[in-house]
Amino acid sequence: MNNSIPDCIICGSRWSLFHTKRDCLCYYRCPGCSFIYLHPDHHPDPEVEKERYLLHDNSMANTGYVDMLNRFIQTHILHRIRPASAVLDFGSGPEPVLSHLLKQRGFICDSYDPFFTSFQPDMHNRYDMIILFEVMEHLIDPVHVMSSLFSLLHDGKYCVVSTRFLPEQPDQFETWWYRMDITHRSFFNAETLYTLAERTGFLPVQTNGKKCIVIKKKPNINYTY
Ligand SMILES: [Zn+2]
Repeated sequence: MNNSIPDCIICGSRWSLFHTKRDCLCYYRCPGCSFIYLHPDHHPDPEVEKERYLLHDNSMANTGYVDMLNRFIQTHILHRIRPASAVLDFGSGPEPVLSHLLKQRGFICDSYDPFFTSFQPDMHNRYDMIILFEVMEHLIDPVHVMSSLFSLLHDGKYCVVSTRFLPEQPDQFETWWYRMDITHRSFFNAETLYTLAERTGFLPVQTNGKKCIVIKKKPNINYTY
């Protein structure tokens, strides 16, 4: 196994390797920001990853999923942007349900997914909000992604991130259902996400402490990564 990533890719602290007993997977754990990262040797091939995403029943026909997204929109989206605002649904999956629901409410919404859309965000087309719903846990390089999204937002506008936060007790990670999905590589808590946000030019706004943070682009700075 290649152990050539000595430092946390979020905060730069020296991290350590550990392995799980039940499935013998290796992870990095950061003492600085709590980030946990699946060792790259265990990352699935893109073909396997895409097949896994196609198994998700995240469609308009899944009323439970649609209800969950509507609650998410109600709680985290509607009071932060005006009708007709431009929104980017980043990591939309094979069927962009979130985009569809936002369009129904009068927003102008683009969907992007590296596996399923041909659309490429125009670096000159600034958005009023970017949403990553259940996306962060799949990312190979969260810093690169958030830095790219920074340049797509208007100053002072919001990025809403939903991913399950790490269990509070480190020993609960071993049996945590969320890590069992082979496409889940990156695991965060609110502290990790705020550290990532700060590094990539965002300000913290709000977290529910469980699975969502809201951040916004720092105004009037020329940030380069
Ligand atoms: Zn770290």
